Amino acid sequence: MKSFIAAGLLLACVSVSSAQSIIVDNASSGFVSRTGIGVPIFMYHGLDAPFGYNAADFVAQMDWLKNNGFNTITLDHYRSWAQTGSPALPPKPIILTFDDNYLSIYTVAYPTLQARGFTGVNYAHTYYVGVMTSYDHADWLECAEMEQAGVIFTESHTVMHNNLTTLNTAAMDNELINSKNAIQNNIPGKVCKHLAYPYGGYNATVIARTQAAGYQTATTTLSGVNVRTTPLYELRRYGINPNTATATFQSAANAGLGSGAWPASSADPGLYGTNYATAAAGTGHGQAIWSFTVPASGLYTVSAWWTTNTNRATNAPFTVFHAGGQSTVLVNQQQNGGQWNPLGQYTFQSGKTYFVTLNDNANGVVVADAIRVQSLSSAVADWTLYE
Ligand SMILES: [Zn+2]
Repeated sequence: MKSFIAAGLLLACVSVSSAQSIIVDNASSGFVSRTGIGVPIFMYHGLDAPFGYNAADFVAQMDWLKNNGFNTITLDHYRSWAQTGSPALPPKPIILTFDDNYLSIYTVAYPTLQARGFTGVNYAHTYYVGVMTSYDHADWLECAEMEQAGVIFTESHTVMHNNLTTLNTAAMDNELINSKNAIQNNIPGKVCKHLAYPYGGYNATVIARTQAAGYQTATTTLSGVNVRTTPLYELRRYGINPNTATATFQSAANAGLGSGAWPASSADPGLYGTNYATAAAGTGHGQAIWSFTVPASGLYTVSAWWTTNTNRATNAPFTVFHAGGQSTVLVNQQQNGGQWNPLGQYTFQSGKTYFVTLNDNANGVVVADAIRVQSLSSAVADWTLYE
């Protein structure tokens, strides 16, 4: 008996063992494409009562991000993407930062982020690490624990939290270098590479000394979304505080999504389904996303389908987000159109949503048509899923 796939059919058992696959077409509900995407960075301070914050409100914000498909990335990931276009961004990227190392970074942010698979950044002014005042601060053991758990990474907010623009160059260097050394000396294996300017204060001299001290990024208190051309020592952040309205919080998170889907076309032969989406060569701010779940944990072959034309990219970057991380495969879309082209074998777990993305950081037009995820495990019963 021949298997067949019908649009709109969610789950169909079929009687041939070769049909253990899911296909997500660009016309499926599991597909979305965007242009003009960027990365919002959120700036928090204390998260509990001394700051007028109800910790439950923070937890609710993190739940909203999780339930709406946001994925945290690290500052290292951001810096590499901004400079090289790689690693590719996950869908709905966001960076969570926390200034001043208040104890709630450990008691509230740490467990909340860990439970949701998120990461964050703790900008610590090192003179006050472990200091208990009316505003308590996390200590080095707590910072090291959060670091080793891979959840919250401690970076520099200088030593004394002075506005760097008010200091002479020697004092500025002391603040930048001594805080970096304190973090590296107290957190095993740590290389401190990121800075937040106290009070958001910076100028050309501050940037030059920050760079000379070995920092790779610095965040400000300027509001806005970050794109690849945003200066790495002037990264924008959205301040989130107890008075931030829900609508404001959500629009700040959504500010990185850009606008508009990739245009659809059916001009070239060999398409899958009824059409395909395309984007012109860009810088990685255009992204197509195929989402899927698998019926059982195991090893799967992921393949992509496209149409060819002479204007196509020869280095179209498909990225598979899998149980072990993310893997990017560059494909030549000037050839092998109208067929399934393997992107590799990857492990996926049931109950989780995974993605394949294609972005426009390429040397020609990129084509988003369909992807297929096919089980290699005999433990998976015969199934075909069309989303
Ligand atoms: Zn601060």
